[in-house]
Amino acid sequence: MSRDALERDALERENRILRKKLERTKKNLREMEDYRERTQGFLRQLITEFQANEIRLQESEHAAQQASQAKSKFLATMSHELRTPLNAILAYSDLLVDEPILAKEPAVLQDVREIKRAGHHLLGLIESILNLSRIETGQLDLACETASTRELLTGVGQFIEPLASRKNNKLFIQHCKPDLTIHVDRLRLRQILLNLLGNAIKFTKNGNILLKIQRSGADRIQFIVEDNGIGIPPGEQLYIFEAFYQVRESGDTDGVGLGLSVSAQLCQRMGGSITVASNLGEGTRFVVELPISCDGHA
Ligand code: ADP
Repeated sequence: MSRDALERDALERENRILRKKLERTKKNLREMEDYRERTQGFLRQLITEFQANEIRLQESEHAAQQASQAKSKFLATMSHELRTPLNAILAYSDLLVDEPILAKEPAVLQDVREIKRAGHHLLGLIESILNLSRIETGQLDLACETASTRELLTGVGQFIEPLASRKNNKLFIQHCKPDLTIHVDRLRLRQILLNLLGNAIKFTKNGNILLKIQRSGADRIQFIVEDNGIGIPPGEQLYIFEAFYQVRESGDTDGVGLGLSVSAQLCQRMGGSITVASNLGEGTRFVVELPISCDGHA
């Protein structure tokens, strides 16, 4: 074979290889193009679904907001409608209790006192429901002011002492030294402590109840309410802060399971927390931890 013919042969072989490579590259390109189109289609579909979900989410948020507003409005109206006649019942039963004729009728007087007690109980429940609704809808404003912890605890103690001794419980108050000045919504804190102490008394007989205050780090404070009453089963301790939850074994027919839930939400609103530790048959300890100053939470 001549040299020219050999060279042509080699060139043709090279051309064939190149053509094959070109065809493979074209095929790859077509596949990539195909893949790109499919990915784009998939992306478009994802975006459409995402937008549809976004619209559905906004609609359901709007519906939830409207339902929550309707619920708050209903609760506010309902509690107003209930409170007005209830206050009249309480005012009239107050008048009746002081009525001289009733002094000679102890059985009737006892019935009137029972009406008063039940009326106050009902008023408390209405207040709790209203509080919970206000907190849930972010309508609860805090009124922070400077308060002395000694004065605060003494006031709470004076109120709760007669209730404690009615069940033959001893109340101990442990102040911190030196006395602390805190910046807090005094009424809300009092409400939390009275609720915890009320529970401690309710679930303890012939026992000891302790209200104690102590610092926690540089800028927080702890209020501790401890009793040696019936205690709370371990499996129930997680749930007692839920609204309307009551421990069945406690046999409590007085409350409705709102006190702790309102207290926990109030603590949270004040930038703090509430925790429980309890042993069945031995007693319960609640710790309310709050910032020393409620600035930034009001
Ligand atoms: P209630 O108004 O029904 O007492 P709470 O929300 O205050 O509702 O409390 C929820 C439940 O937690 C109570 O029903 C009771 O079973 C339990 N509980 C709360 N405090 C104590 C306590 N100090 N000792 C034992 N059980 C308690």
